[in-house]
Amino acid sequence: MNRIVKSDAEWQKELTPEEFAVARKKGTERAFTGRYWDNHEAGVYRCVCCGNALFRGDEKFESGSGWPSFWAPAAAENVSTESDNSLSMRRTEALCSKCDAHLGHVFEDGPAPTGLRYCINSAALKFTPEKP
Ligand code: FE
Repeated sequence: MNRIVKSDAEWQKELTPEEFAVARKKGTERAFTGRYWDNHEAGVYRCVCCGNALFRGDEKFESGSGWPSFWAPAAAENVSTESDNSLSMRRTEALCSKCDAHLGHVFEDGPAPTGLRYCINSAALKFTPEKP
């Protein structure tokens, strides 16, 4: 995979302030405020920074958390994980494997078949509806 590396100044030119704060600075949007937590359309959720296909409507589920939630990524190699011990919590961070954008966190309380819950910020995603 061709990795994408850009400076903060470059990302800042391409992203909205909220997208930059979340995807490049590991921020978190407030629950129930993002553009996709309540989106039910079929389609692909791409990285807001680089366009990498990260998640699909097929794996989205209602978590009640207020953030778009998926039980699996679109492709395992497109989403990477790292341990995150910030804020005195042990969590697993989810990142775009192509540009290292912060996406959200992965928890082990998701539904079958994986038991995983990818809890993702809308601001890190750009949705492309499936063509009818
Ligand atoms: Fe990316």
